[in-house]
Amino acid sequence: MSYQVDENGFYGEFGGAYIPEILYKCVDELRKAYLPVIQSEEFKKEYHRLLLDYAGRPSPLYYADRMSSKYGCRLYLKREDCNHTGAHKINNAIGQILLARKMGKTRVIAETGAGQHGVATATVCALMGMQCEIFMGKTDVERQHTNVERMRMLGAKVNPVTTGNMTLSDACSAAIRDWCCHPSDTYYLVGSTMGPHPYPDLVAKLQSVISEEIKTQLLEKTGRDYPDYLIACIGGGSNAAGTIYHYMDDDRVKIVLAEAGGHGVDSGYTAATIHRGRTGILHGSKMLVMQTPDGQIEEAFSISAGLDYPGVGPMHCNMAKQGRTKVLDINDDEAIYAGYEMTRLEGIIPAIESAHAVAALSKMSFRPDDIVVLTVSGRGDKDVETYLKNKEMAAEYGNF
Ligand SMILES: *Cc1c(COP(=O)(O)O)cnc(C)c1O
Repeated sequence: MSYQVDENGFYGEFGGAYIPEILYKCVDELRKAYLPVIQSEEFKKEYHRLLLDYAGRPSPLYYADRMSSKYGCRLYLKREDCNHTGAHKINNAIGQILLARKMGKTRVIAETGAGQHGVATATVCALMGMQCEIFMGKTDVERQHTNVERMRMLGAKVNPVTTGNMTLSDACSAAIRDWCCHPSDTYYLVGSTMGPHPYPDLVAKLQSVISEEIKTQLLEKTGRDYPDYLIACIGGGSNAAGTIYHYMDDDRVKIVLAEAGGHGVDSGYTAATIHRGRTGILHGSKMLVMQTPDGQIEEAFSISAGLDYPGVGPMHCNMAKQGRTKVLDINDDEAIYAGYEMTRLEGIIPAIESAHAVAALSKMSFRPDDIVVLTVSGRGDKDVETYLKNKEMAAEYGNF
């Protein structure tokens, strides 16, 4: 059995393309185009050139000495925080903008929550001279003001979305509605392993450069090309997909993913979709969705805006259901504590999203020679205010 997508766009029972009639042509055009394009030599050359010279790849695989001592293992950090624009999102944005250009599209739209994907998209649009419009919930526009200003400076139009809870899920719906109105010239640049097939597979493949590099770097540093454990945080699932892609079918590698528990999985304020979700259809894909008994989408809650989504990519729904991945729920206070800990032990301020992955370490037990690779999906510059506001959650470090 493979954990890869099948020819109909399904991962087990999850995935597919549940779309309105009017989008059928666009999605089908993309489905037919994506593999021939991204597997072509021309694409690979340009994509890797931009990853190297523009995004700053390969990102370092850093041996975290002090944290290794603390957790009793050999801990390596995959430093996606070192990328241009501050997170793994740029890997996907570069790949999809090249695809959009190849498909002859002139206008790009995207959804964003915290603004990281919006910034990555606005960045590559500036790079390629393409028209760019970002959909962002009005609540997030207010919460993430700096990222809104960055997008505007990069030349993107930011459209505040005022429907629903005015957050990420509503921004996705608005982007899909815009796409329905401009199906021929517009490319929808999806930011995570979600949306109708082929997006989850496309995004996973573009992020798979993360595990491709881990293989080479681990071999160099440890003499073998696989770890005992891989750890990543999971919102829609793209940095996790990239981290595990080349190890999915390798049983020697245990995979632990950290989803956002918010105030706690049973508190009513959570984004722990794999724990709380039931099968449903959201934004064109069958996946686990947090919903009321009669199927209304529930609002997700997490201290980290990037994990604040009521669904989770179909690939991860399937792998969790098959028992291939172990999914831990990490609460807000645990993430804040872990973020301070990494800052003080390694001098790396992680994004609060990434801090959820860090917090998973304290819920695991290791043998001293276990090799653990943890992906730091992004840098915490955007989160400094939140860390400071919640420093009482990390009393050991927060007394300043
Ligand atoms: C967007 C984001 C995430 C969550 O998205 P995934 O698709 O699950 O990776 C995690 N970390 C950072 C830094 C992000 O910007």
